[in-house]
Amino acid sequence: MRRQTVLIALESATFELVKKLMDAGKLPNIAKLAREGMCEKALGVLPSHPPTGYATIATGAYPGTHGITCTMVHNPGEPMFEFHHGNFTDSVLAETLWEAADKAGQRTVVLNYHTGTWPPKNARNGVAVQPITLAKTPTYQTEPPNLEDTPLKNLAAITQIELQPAQAWVNIERCGSDPLEMSQPILLEAESGEHADVLCQGLFGNVRPLKNKWKATVTYHVLITKSGGEGYDRVLICRAKDGSSAICTLEPGKWGPWVTTEFNTGKGMAEGMNRYKVLTLTRDGRAFRIIGSGITQTSPGGWSYPESIGTELVKEIGPPPSEIRCMTRTDFNPRTLYTLQPWLPLETYVEDFTVQCQWLKNAALHLLKTAQPDLLALAYRPTDMVEHIAWPFIDPGCPGYNSEEAVIWWGILERLYQQVDDLVGSLRAAVGKDGIVALASTHGKTSPPLMQRVYVQNILARAGLLSFSVNPRTNGVEIDWSKTKAVQARSIHIYVNLKGRDPDGIVAPGEEYESVRDQIINAFHAVRDPKTGKCPFTLALRKEDAAILGLHGDRVGDVVFALADGYHPVTHPVMGEGGGPTPDLQVTSYLCKSGIHGWQLPTTSYGIGSMGCLLVMAGGGIKEGARCKPPVHLVDLAPTLAHAAGLPCPAQAEGRVLQEIVE
Ligand SMILES: [Zn+2]
Repeated sequence: MRRQTVLIALESATFELVKKLMDAGKLPNIAKLAREGMCEKALGVLPSHPPTGYATIATGAYPGTHGITCTMVHNPGEPMFEFHHGNFTDSVLAETLWEAADKAGQRTVVLNYHTGTWPPKNARNGVAVQPITLAKTPTYQTEPPNLEDTPLKNLAAITQIELQPAQAWVNIERCGSDPLEMSQPILLEAESGEHADVLCQGLFGNVRPLKNKWKATVTYHVLITKSGGEGYDRVLICRAKDGSSAICTLEPGKWGPWVTTEFNTGKGMAEGMNRYKVLTLTRDGRAFRIIGSGITQTSPGGWSYPESIGTELVKEIGPPPSEIRCMTRTDFNPRTLYTLQPWLPLETYVEDFTVQCQWLKNAALHLLKTAQPDLLALAYRPTDMVEHIAWPFIDPGCPGYNSEEAVIWWGILERLYQQVDDLVGSLRAAVGKDGIVALASTHGKTSPPLMQRVYVQNILARAGLLSFSVNPRTNGVEIDWSKTKAVQARSIHIYVNLKGRDPDGIVAPGEEYESVRDQIINAFHAVRDPKTGKCPFTLALRKEDAAILGLHGDRVGDVVFALADGYHPVTHPVMGEGGGPTPDLQVTSYLCKSGIHGWQLPTTSYGIGSMGCLLVMAGGGIKEGARCKPPVHLVDLAPTLAHAAGLPCPAQAEGRVLQEIVE
């Protein structure tokens, strides 16, 4: 019998958080799904990063098999610090649920699923939608940016401006009195409109697209006026210094309408849409702050298959919203791991993740009706970001915890998961009693109270395996490959600088290679936390041995390691005063400001969370109130879902069908 199946992948939705909200009665639809089917904490994969989890959910295979062995993929023979993004179809080596279904002549919809989706492979009967952000919008404000906690200043994207009397404007008589203008225009820089393989270069990953590269800029002039002559209360974004060229008029505190921006790509026009919000405008016109959402492409090409589907979605349900990235990852400043943009009010952040979830829901409902798929798969990402930010405030073991902050952040998490709950409820209703809905998270999260940092590269340097220095001109760390035998690259992977494989290889294959691997493993095992005497590494394995963790094949480092609970790595070599290396620095304490994941075993539990994945599934073909025989693995989802739904199992799936829950 034909039944519609919906797979919802959540980025790092921690089992314990969702369970707590569910038990408190806050998530009625997810609770109902769990009651009427199964709900388990599943063991995920190592490393626990979103792309590894997305690929595992989609293929039922382990990272060694599907090839997404980290956020980035490294191909042997390429320079050690060149990585390809794991998000693209060609990076995934194993068949996905939707590819298997498509091959069998079934209809599929893949919506905003972040791994193995674009360009769609073998999509004969399928629809794929993968929205593109053409340009990010900087924040403009009169206050000087407070970057104390923002170590990656180049990512901060705040521009300080002044408001000054409007000069050389025309047609502004009707716009209000005493016009002011932003001292510089809004500058939008758009890049490369198509999803394509990208290359990350260097220790800190400068990303460049490998094809379809184009750049285009658009500027908008901003006029601020008094609409009633009393105080400043109106903001116009204009194509030129011409009041009649306004693309929108904004009131402080409210999102403006969706507006269209056109970029000249050199080969034609790319069109995108976004919204702006004035966060601050004082009546006297002294303090001002404006933000915009990212501009997502709305013109056809490169983001939907068939192309007409994208146009149809924009027309029927509106443009796909682009998320406001609220955090920047840092490896530069050992004191800070993640940081919330201090200029973004929480309520605006809630609006942002709400609008994203609602668009996904509306797009999924529209496509379930119009495309009539046998399988619809979608991914929702803000769960990871919000949990990262919220964690230090909600885990009573963290120094930042206080009960008042905890109430606020539990409230934010509640609103976040209520969006997901609404998505689950709406899609369940749409597929009916016999349809199947499955909800799975890519991994979980934990946060130790006072985290210990492990300087992985310094440990290698101290063992005489890695040589680095600071370039006085650029102030960047440079590796001396002629003296380097091993280096950490891509989270849990350590690469030997191997002759004949790596461009600057110096270690001979055979005896020397084995000896270097022994030295790495011995060096890791010898490290002790000065506070506790404990070894911060749970394991350090030769790649052949890492096959027991599903890490095999040529996208795995020569040595693979995992960190113990409560430890997080520093992956850049750390220099001492005056630029000299300080390999002695191996483990230090710092105040953790974020939930973490990625480097610990999937079995890790710490504080109020764990790395375990949420797995909830119910519908036709699945027993009511089913109980699984533990352990349940994330790789079991695809085979079980395929079995229950009557879909073909992905060809390389390694998980088992959870026989005890299927009919
Ligand atoms: Zn994360």
